[in-house]
Amino acid sequence: MPIKTQSSARPNKTAKAFRQKKYLKIPYTYVRMLLSVLLTFVIILGVSLFRLNQYQTSQQASESEYEKLLGEYNILETKANELTAKLDMVEYKNDSAQLTLNRQAAKLNEQDAKYTEEFDEFSKKTEELQQQLETLEKAKQEIIDQLNKIPYLPGITDLTLDEPIPLAVSYSSDPIQMLSYKLDSISNIARSELSSYQSLTETFEEIKPVLNNYPSIWPVKGITTSGFGRRQSPMGGNSSENHTGLDIAVPMYTDVKATGGGTITTAEYSGGYGYLIVIDHGMGLATYYGHNAELLASVGDSVARGQIVAKSGNTGNSTGPHVHYEVRVNGKPVNPVKYVTLSD
Ligand SMILES: [Zn+2]
Repeated sequence: MPIKTQSSARPNKTAKAFRQKKYLKIPYTYVRMLLSVLLTFVIILGVSLFRLNQYQTSQQASESEYEKLLGEYNILETKANELTAKLDMVEYKNDSAQLTLNRQAAKLNEQDAKYTEEFDEFSKKTEELQQQLETLEKAKQEIIDQLNKIPYLPGITDLTLDEPIPLAVSYSSDPIQMLSYKLDSISNIARSELSSYQSLTETFEEIKPVLNNYPSIWPVKGITTSGFGRRQSPMGGNSSENHTGLDIAVPMYTDVKATGGGTITTAEYSGGYGYLIVIDHGMGLATYYGHNAELLASVGDSVARGQIVAKSGNTGNSTGPHVHYEVRVNGKPVNPVKYVTLSD
């Protein structure tokens, strides 16, 4: 026993004390044990509390750090959102600008198409105008040609009119410039045409009375059996003569018409002409209608073109029913064909 061994080691101690000591010794051991346990527990608790505190502190620290970070994050997020909003705004503005640009581009395209269409239309009209002017010029030239065909126009000397200015003298690869040149040219031609038509009108005013009286139609319609000029005498023999008119074969009593307006200066039997009508057309122009069977006008009568002045026949030096038609300029016989062809 350990207690016996201990008592033998200390023999001078009393039993009471020993008992007391022994009695006390047991709880003391328990106390010590309890204290040890408590101490251990306290230590463990302390450490745990310390640890817990430490943990809590660190937890708190990390929490505050987390909160700080969260705050920063929130700030950053706000800033990011702001930036995003700004970017969105920029993008929106950009989109809106793009949209406006697209709209403007579309509008411009539309305008361009419209402009092109109008330009084409304008070009077409310009071409038409040019063609019309050319037609007008051609018509004018025809009138001048007709007027120039009139073999004898006393008092009217000048029938040549202003030459038109040549077309499109300039050239440009720019269609608008080219159109401008064309219009300038057309404008010049139109001015020139206007001026020449005005002078043509003046000429017409001048020659109108002349033309009214001008011998320009056939007195009768028939076969021309003998032309103007030198020919073998129809009266037989080898002699030749200068035929002063046209012989037009027609049946007896065919209407003989005045070939132009004028005054009857002869209406009588006149030698080889037989029954003869002579009309004075003025301007030195006179017409003769010979070999008639009957005269239907008297000297001094005013006659109009187409008016019947006689009935055809076979009087005078004639080998068959026909009209001898003669045109004289200042008393000199000229070829009537030049005159009658005017009305053909
Ligand atoms: Zn004759």
